[in-house]
Parts: sequence; structure tokens; C-alpha cells
Amino acid sequence: MTIIIGHKNPDTDSIVSALVYAQVKKKMGEEAEAGRLGVVNKETEFVLAHFEQEAPALIENVEGKQVILVDHNDSPQSAPGLNKAEVLEVIDHHCIGDIQTTEPILFRAEPIGSTSTIIAKIAKEKNIELDKKQAGLLLAGVISDTICFEGPTTTEEDKKIGKELAEISGIDSKELAEKMFEARSSIQGMSAKDIVAGDYKEYKFAGKKLDVSVFETLAPEKLEPLKAEIFDELRKLKKEKGSDLLFFLIIDISKKNSLLYLIEPKEKEVAEKVFGGEIEEDIMLLPGIVSRKKQIIPPLAQYLEKHGL
Ligand code: MN
Ligand code: MN
Repeated sequence: MTIIIGHKNPDTDSIVSALVYAQVKKKMGEEAEAGRLGVVNKETEFVLAHFEQEAPALIENVEGKQVILVDHNDSPQSAPGLNKAEVLEVIDHHCIGDIQTTEPILFRAEPIGSTSTIIAKIAKEKNIELDKKQAGLLLAGVISDTICFEGPTTTEEDKKIGKELAEISGIDSKELAEKMFEARSSIQGMSAKDIVAGDYKEYKFAGKKLDVSVFETLAPEKLEPLKAEIFDELRKLKKEKGSDLLFFLIIDISKKNSLLYLIEPKEKEVAEKVFGGEIEEDIMLLPGIVSRKKQIIPPLAQYLEKHGL
């Protein structure tokens, strides 16, 4: 049995693309099951409830298993035991990481808005009709990653596929997006630690460990009272994770800007050189910046490759 998994600290795109791809595979006569690497976030929880879909099973370790990776292709973001698993396929839309295999595999990476878009394309190419629920789930994945077709990673293809998915599912994208983003913005019952660890990604460039965590919200002001605690948690986390650089961003998905938390002098120095925004009380305002994969990671990676630390 092949397990299809998205990345650690899963987001909606990782969960729904694994779920629907497993169903597409079954229709193709292949045995596959979706899994997840961690608890689902509040937005995904809303999406799963909305479509009356159970969450995929929690996967602790993939040693000795056959796996398909969706929505990531980098081992720090994947499951424990991956180096002793057999990776059969990768379907993704991120920069290419360090996954190595001993056999030739299907490796499909496209510079588009979401993995969900690619899964919808695969179903079309294979002449597999998506039902209402599958189309709705994938639409939620596209909406989540592209900020409802308004984010900088959105392509014409996402818009076209998004329209088709909306038609099949009979869903108004804007209405669904509003509810999803409201769920995403809720910090009810969340500690500062939950907020900084919920969408945490680890990278390696030029031998340096770079961690970038984000929290996307419609209401950044709600986090204001937690500022000191967030800084404390980030400094603790940097030690725990052994990162060379750790950045945290509160992304305002409504106003389309970010607050970049600068936890130590090193982060401040690099951010000043790379982004050059105005700093107030160790927080840099970044107008127009809302995408980690397209606007944050590339300039940081290029800086590290060029200058080191
Ligand atoms: Mn993702
Ligand atoms: Mn994605």
C-alpha cells in the first residue's frame, strides 16, 4: 500500500491534494492511501468539516514503506524514516530540495499556485472525472495557497482550473475563501508557541539551516498582545531546532503585507541586507510580501549562497 503524504505542519493544500490524489490513484487501479504528518490547522479543520471529509491518518514514520510526496520534495519537511522509504513519486510546486532516489521516478514540479491545481490536471489528463466533493476539496487547496487567486504565486492555470473546480462542485470561490480565511485567522485557544510552530518550515542553503515560520491572518492586530511571548518562543525554538537563522512572519492576507520578526542581531543584519524594510521594535514591515516560497525563501537562499553567514 502506497502512502501519499504532504509536508510536516500540514496546510490545506497538503491535506486535500493527498486525499484526492489517493482517490484518483484508486480509480486508476492503484492502491494508495492518504496520510498526514501532524495535526491539521484551523482552516483545514473547517474545510474537512465543510465537505464532511475525514482527515487522513496520522503517519509517524515511513521507514520501509512506499510513499508518494505531494506539496513538498525536501527531506527536512518530510516524514521521519524517509531515507529508508521508497519514494515512488513527487508532485509539487516548491523549489527543488534534496530528495534522492535509487530508481527512476515520476517527479512532477510545476511553478504554479498549488499542488491541488496539479492534482486536478492529472485527473483531467487521465480522464478521471472528479466528483463534487473531490472538486470542492481541491478548490479549497487552490484557494488556500493562492489567497483566493490574489497572491503572487497565482497563475492563469490556477484560475482556469479553479473555475472548472468551482463549476463541478457548485461552489462560489469567494464565499468559501471568506469562511476559510476566517477560520485561519482564529487564534482562539492557541498559545504563542502554537502560533509560531503551526506553519514552520526548515531549509538548508549553503550548509546553513534556515527556518521560516509564518502565520497568515486577516487580523494581525489580534497577535499584538502576544508579541513578547512570540519573541520568547521564537528564541527558544531557534535553540531547540539548531537553526542558523529563524524568521517569523505574520502575513496579512487582506492588506497583502507582512510583519517580519527579527529575533536576534544575525536575523536583523540579514533582513536589512535582503529586504531593507523599516524596522520598529525588532519588527520589519514588508509591503506586498505574502509568499514564503516566492518572495522570502529565494532572496534569503541567494544571500546565503553568495555571502554565507
Ligand atoms: Mn503546503
Ligand atoms: Mn502548496
